[in-house]
Amino acid sequence: MLSLSRPKKNRQVLCSPDSLYFKPRAIPLRALEETVLADDELESLRLADLYGLYHKEAAVRMQISRQTFGNILKSGRKKVADALVNGKAIRIQCEAFSNAFICDDCAHIWKFEDLAGRPDACPHCSGEKIYPLPL
Ligand SMILES: [Zn+2]
Repeated sequence: MLSLSRPKKNRQVLCSPDSLYFKPRAIPLRALEETVLADDELESLRLADLYGLYHKEAAVRMQISRQTFGNILKSGRKKVADALVNGKAIRIQCEAFSNAFICDDCAHIWKFEDLAGRPDACPHCSGEKIYPLPL
């Protein structure tokens, strides 16, 4: 398991509300198994697999050891492969999106500003099947 004491303060957070959730088409959310990708796992995939950085270089960017980078990357790759092969949804866990909701009709995700309240409907499609997105 990853250490919980890993410093996080200087990492870039690249989460955007449009890409926090990926699901196979035509399967309702409640029927899907979900795999949760941590934001540092996404960042390791971005640096190593999308941009092709060497682990050593990517670890410096994330301000973690090369070994820790390797562990995070391995874990992230395994989760993505599991989702693709087994038809699971991928949810990206992002600390910047607390109190976010997801619409079961269109999979839109948005951050609801009223921390004590709950939205009535999806702001994108007006669907009423909306669920809080756990972080
Ligand atoms: Zn919607």
